[in-house]
Amino acid sequence: MKKGTLAFGAIALASALVISGCSAADDGNGTETPQFEEGTTMAKLAEQGSIKIGTKFDQPLFGEVGPSGTPEGFDVEIGKLIAKELGISADKIQWVETVSANRETFIQNGTTDIVIATYTINDKRKESISFAGPYYLAGQSILTTKENPAGIQSDADLVGKQVCSVDGSTPAAKLAEIGAIPVLFKTYAECIDPLKLGQVDAVSTDNVILAGFAAKDDTLQVVGTPFTDEPYGIGVGHDDDAFRSFVNDVLEKIYANGDYRAAWDATAGKVLPYVNPPAVNRYSN
Ligand code: GLU
Repeated sequence: MKKGTLAFGAIALASALVISGCSAADDGNGTETPQFEEGTTMAKLAEQGSIKIGTKFDQPLFGEVGPSGTPEGFDVEIGKLIAKELGISADKIQWVETVSANRETFIQNGTTDIVIATYTINDKRKESISFAGPYYLAGQSILTTKENPAGIQSDADLVGKQVCSVDGSTPAAKLAEIGAIPVLFKTYAECIDPLKLGQVDAVSTDNVILAGFAAKDDTLQVVGTPFTDEPYGIGVGHDDDAFRSFVNDVLEKIYANGDYRAAWDATAGKVLPYVNPPAVNRYSN
C-alpha cells in the first residue's frame, strides 16, 4: 500500500512539474496540459499546442465566417471543446475551410487534423477516414422561396425539378437517386441567389443548414419534413482508433457536463430547438 501511495505521489509530482513547466499548451488561462500516451495523435497535438480544424465557412448556425474573421457556429464550438481537452486554447486553433467534396482528402493528406463540418457518417466515407460521434442527428430537407412557384412541398415534388445542392454531399447523391435534376456548387451559400432568381426550383440539404439560411432571409422557407438520416460525425484519420476514442470520450464528457448544451444554446439554439444528443457509436471495423 505504502509503495503504491509513494508511486502515485511521484506521478502526481511529475505531472505537477510538467503543468507548472509552462509547456506550449499552457496558455496561462487555466488550460491544463493533459498527459497522453506517446505516439498518439493526442500527444502530438498537445505537444505542438495547436490543431488544424476543418469546418464550413458559409453555413449559418454551424460554421460561418462573419465579421470577426473566424468561423462561428455549433461545429466551431464543438471544435473548441475538443481542443480544450487537448490543452489547446481557442486562439491556437487553425480553422481550415472544408467544403463537402474535400473533407476526406483534407483528413487523409493532413491539411486538417480533424473535420467538424455538418459531416454525415456513412460507410463509403468510413472507407477512407474514421468518425467519432454522432454528436447530432440531422435530416435532408428542402428550401424554397416563400413564393415557391413550383409548389414544392415534399421530396416527391422534387422529381424532374432543378434542385441546387453541393458536390460531394450526401443530399446531392439523394437528389440524383430520387430523380431530381441536381445543380451542384461547391458551397450551399452559392445556391441562394439561383434560388431567389428562379434559376433553380429548390435547394436541398440538411434541415439545420437550410434553417440557418431561412433565418437570415425572410423570403425563404424550409418545407416538408426531413427525408433522410444525417448523423453528424467528427472526421479523424482512418483507423486512428485512439484519437477517435478520445474524441468520443470528449463528446460523452460534454454531454454530461452541460458544455454541449451551452454550445448549442449559443449558436444553432438561437434558431433551432434543443434535442438531446445521440449516443456515440464506438464502432469497430
Ligand atoms: N451532412 C451532409 C453531408 O455530409 C450534407 C451537409 C454537407 O454537405 O456538409 O454530405
